[in-house]
Amino acid sequence: MNYGVYQNVRDAAWRCLLDAGITELPVSVTKIARHFDVNIIKNSVHDWLKPSQSGISFQAEDGTWVVVYDDSDSIGRKRFTIAHELGHILLGHPLREGERHTRVFNKDRPEVEKEADMFAARILSPACVLWALDLHTPEEIAERCQISYTAAQARADRMALLYSRQMFLTSPIERQVFQAFKPWIEQQKSRPE
Ligand SMILES: [Zn+2]
Repeated sequence: MNYGVYQNVRDAAWRCLLDAGITELPVSVTKIARHFDVNIIKNSVHDWLKPSQSGISFQAEDGTWVVVYDDSDSIGRKRFTIAHELGHILLGHPLREGERHTRVFNKDRPEVEKEADMFAARILSPACVLWALDLHTPEEIAERCQISYTAAQARADRMALLYSRQMFLTSPIERQVFQAFKPWIEQQKSRPE
């Protein structure tokens, strides 16, 4: 499979959601992984992670992408870990030779870690969808997006800024994402409280 299909983090998350056919919350990270032929493996199967790691991704000899995640983490954390690793893969972050004849991402690059986190937050909690559902608090965002409270808090801060500036649907790609989610959003709005 090719990697680095997306270059720009800002548009990458939207493109990823569109390409993988994601139309509702919580966003299915396994559906995205399947779309891009990425194998998702629980760490409890092989115990490949070092104690300090919550997830890794690498390219096997045959070119297959593999993500290993710590399945003992909370659901919100597990989802963020997988989304973060998908970010490294889809943003085409630089690789170096690793163990077991694989290539792994260079961990000495704080900016790529930041990019992968941004990508993860944006695919798991797309701003235009939160806006359409009028979600503001970390509690609401954590529940609807199935992310950790910490991740939801950061997203809520970002959303507060976007709400104050009414910065939604300004990009054509974001408008496409909104259209893809629209039937599901309408369903949510007509649901009795
Ligand atoms: Zn990373």
